[in-house]
Formats: sequence, structure tokens, C-alpha cells
Amino acid sequence: MTDADCIFCKIVAGDIPATKVLENDRVLAFRDLYPKAPTHVLVIPKDHYANVAELTAADPALAGEVLRAAAEVALNEGVAEDGWRLLANTGANGGQEVFHVHFHVFGGKPLGRMLSN
Ligand code: AMP
Repeated sequence: MTDADCIFCKIVAGDIPATKVLENDRVLAFRDLYPKAPTHVLVIPKDHYANVAELTAADPALAGEVLRAAAEVALNEGVAEDGWRLLANTGANGGQEVFHVHFHVFGGKPLGRMLSN
């Protein structure tokens, strides 16, 4: 399941480059192009779903695989012990820019409050 206009589908297909840090049959993790923390990795299902709601409705097991991969990325990045943050922006108010569901894994420094005021 792919979307021809989706930049993350193009990364999955290998049509545009990315720095991959974890990959299996169904999940891919790669470094964010504009990192906001020392560790900033995006974890995605390879299949195209626009957001968390679509993913969980269509394939909750895959959602679980994505979360498991996020935890594995945190371990591999060496941030698991000190702590890290998992974030999925959704829709306009959530600040979502890429409409292929993705989880940001942030770590490597104190990340401060959950939201700015
Ligand atoms: P969001 O606002 O949650 O939709 O986040 C989209 C993220 O994708 C942003 O943090 C971007 O920096 C990141 N991004 C956009 N294009 C690429 C790309 N080609 N490779 C890696 N990260 C990207």
C-alpha cells in the first residue's frame, strides 16, 4: 500500500535517500532531516497510512510493531536509560507536515516540558 505523492513512501521504495537506522519487513526507522535533538529518528510502517487513527484502525498489530521498533531505536541510540520521547503529530493542530504516519523518537538531552506555552 503506497501513495505515489508521499515522500516517506519514496524513502521506503528507495527513490529518495535516508539515513536508515532500523529496517524489517514492515517497519523502517531513519534519521530526521532536520533533527530537533541529538537523537531524532522517525519510525514508520512501510505501508501508507495517513495518521495514527488510520493505522490503528486498519492494522493494530502493525501499530504495535512500530512502537516496538521505536523502543529498539531508543536502545540502539543509547538513550533508553536516560529517557526519551515518542511523538506522533496528527492533523493541523497537531502540526503534522507529512501525512504518512510516523513516530518521532527524541533523546540525547533533557527534553524539557511536554509542550511550550
Ligand atoms: P511532522 O511535523 O510530525 O509531520 O514531521 C515531519 C518530519 O519529517 C519533520 O521533522 C521533517 O524534518 C521530517 N522530514 C521531512 N522530509 C524528510 C526526509 N526526506 N528525510 C527525513 N526526514 C524528513
